[in-house]
Amino acid sequence: MPRHDTKSMLWEGRRESENVEDVRGSGGGGRLAVGGGIGGVIVVALYLLLGGDPQVLLDSQQQAQLSQPDQIAGQASPDEASKFVAVVLADTEDAWHDLFRKMGREYQEPKLVLFTDVSRSGCGFASGASGPFYCPEDRRVYIDLGFYRLLQERLGAGGDFAQAYVIAHEVGHHVQNLLGITDRIEAARGRLSRSEYNRLSVRLELQADFLAGVWARYADRVKHVVEDGDIEEAMRAASAVGDDRLQHSSRGYVVPDSFTHGTSEQRVRWFRRGYDTGDVSQGDTFTARDL
Ligand SMILES: [Zn+2]
Repeated sequence: MPRHDTKSMLWEGRRESENVEDVRGSGGGGRLAVGGGIGGVIVVALYLLLGGDPQVLLDSQQQAQLSQPDQIAGQASPDEASKFVAVVLADTEDAWHDLFRKMGREYQEPKLVLFTDVSRSGCGFASGASGPFYCPEDRRVYIDLGFYRLLQERLGAGGDFAQAYVIAHEVGHHVQNLLGITDRIEAARGRLSRSEYNRLSVRLELQADFLAGVWARYADRVKHVVEDGDIEEAMRAASAVGDDRLQHSSRGYVVPDSFTHGTSEQRVRWFRRGYDTGDVSQGDTFTARDL
């Protein structure tokens, strides 16, 4: 079995999902000419004024702070990058079709939008260099590939499997949506204080990490595409994007209310639990006493 890189999950030549919508450089439709940084902040401000969900875009905003627009351009071999994303998405489809069948349910596949700069989503605008996110309204995962460079260069968590983890986490949010968990959290929002709601959001995020771990287990045991070091790579990514790390790296820009993803340690722990058990029913972060 050829290995071109010691940190590479086995993905070449495998099935690609047909659910990828590549709108990079399309110049129309969902795209606006706004860079990261200040542009991202303005987008978030507008978004909040329009009554959007701040959680998704606060994350984006933090990540916009971390990144310069010129780092987004020139991602090596975009076709290879989009192929990789399509293969990982196909892997999540196979895994979740199987896992849903075992739960007596039917999995509906999400779309995945690859964008640059700014994209219109069912949840508002996403800015360039924003973190990946899932929009429950249109059932789409949004990814700006520039985020992968950010992971690698600024947060020290590169590698194919780290990138796969990011997709699996967002697909985890889609799974939560299909299972009705997202709706329950949204329904609770009205009767909770901001900080209570944020605590609930942390549990939602940690569960998405857990579900990414369940996927990783499936990829490992059923598909045999996980190589030595891959799980550690994913956990480095989970750790790198913990809110405490992001707060730390964002050069003094602090939004206390945005601690919605859990700490690095908590993220690694729930990913690990998903990977170790491979059992969706073990991922109830909402009643867990210790996160
Ligand atoms: Zn998330």
